[in-house]
Amino acid sequence: MKPETRLVHLGREPQRFEGLVNVPPCRTSTYLHDSVAAYQAAAADKHGRLYYGRFGSQTSLALASACAELDEAAGAVLFPSGLAAITRVLGCLLRPGDHLLMVDTVYGPVRAFCEQELTRVGVRTSWYSPDDLVALEALVRPETRVVYAESPGSLTFEVQDLRALADVARRHGLVSVVDNTWATPWFCRPLALGMDISLMSGSKYLVGHSDALLGVASSTEPYLAILQQAAAHYGNAVSADDCYLALRGLRTLGIRLARHQASALRVAGWLAARPEIAEVFYPALPGDAYHAIWQRDFSGASGLLGVAFHSDVTERQRHAFVDGLALFGIGVSWGGFESLALPGQAPRRLPDMQPRCRLPLVRLHIGLEDPGDLIADLACSLANHIPMPER
Ligand SMILES: *Cc1c(COP(=O)(O)O)cnc(C)c1O
Repeated sequence: MKPETRLVHLGREPQRFEGLVNVPPCRTSTYLHDSVAAYQAAAADKHGRLYYGRFGSQTSLALASACAELDEAAGAVLFPSGLAAITRVLGCLLRPGDHLLMVDTVYGPVRAFCEQELTRVGVRTSWYSPDDLVALEALVRPETRVVYAESPGSLTFEVQDLRALADVARRHGLVSVVDNTWATPWFCRPLALGMDISLMSGSKYLVGHSDALLGVASSTEPYLAILQQAAAHYGNAVSADDCYLALRGLRTLGIRLARHQASALRVAGWLAARPEIAEVFYPALPGDAYHAIWQRDFSGASGLLGVAFHSDVTERQRHAFVDGLALFGIGVSWGGFESLALPGQAPRRLPDMQPRCRLPLVRLHIGLEDPGDLIADLACSLANHIPMPER
């Protein structure tokens, strides 16, 4: 079956639910068992059987199995948010005294988690550049346990060489983890590139309608028990209603992402040709610094991109540009059907990472609107608020 066909059938079992096309939202805490023996059998396989709502419902098990299949993983575990998936998994992989290698372009709240929560429990973090695997390898210590990637990086969209990174990890006995939220497993399958664990904020494209929060962690066989432990020991639970929304979003993931990609590519190309713009960060754009590696490892690009103005554009002008957009909402998160814009400032620790983010940035999410309308809106606000560079 081709991927589009699989997307329609993943996780569905109409015969089990009296012909219902969709697995319904099965709200429950308690499952009743026919006998003590049946209860004990369920207790012995809490993650696979219907035992107690905290471990899973028919709805969450259907979604988890669909996610595992999409990711070509041994299994997937759901979390109440993307950040919960990331922090729970890191919490289960790291012990006091351990060392973590973290990419400098990581999503801001993960940076805060490393600096505050991990530091508090005695885990040290070293920051590495997404572009320099030689420097990364030099940071490995005897107590290094995990190498964490995010590709492309938040706000500045550096694509990492995950195959090479996975090789470094394997050579040094490290667990390799990647945040794959931007591409989703529809456009990139990190486990097939050699990574051990792939994480995704399902709040973005999986749910796809800006109406639920969800996190997904998928892994190869050796790490599946650790993911399940990350969920179970921390008392993780995901609501059946949110899983239902994610399963509904999943059915249209392919066509939505195709449209996000086509529109984002058109908008990015238009922006890149504008004299008021210094650079567009969108790996699918020919000419992007990461285009070749994106082409090698990804089968597509989503709708999120970065726009860098010339260095003399003031914060006030940048904010006026965002305020002046009529079709782009101002707000965090992305991956829904609607376009969004936010001014951004990427904090970086490493000096070689700073040039790309020192330029004044705006992050755009290109939604499912007509791309011509979006371009007209961008053109109007650029003309009103961003000066032409002097020649
Ligand atoms: C949004 C996001 C997260 C966090 O996801 P939530 O579901 O909002 O907790 C993690 N990583 C990346 C790259 C994100 O964009």
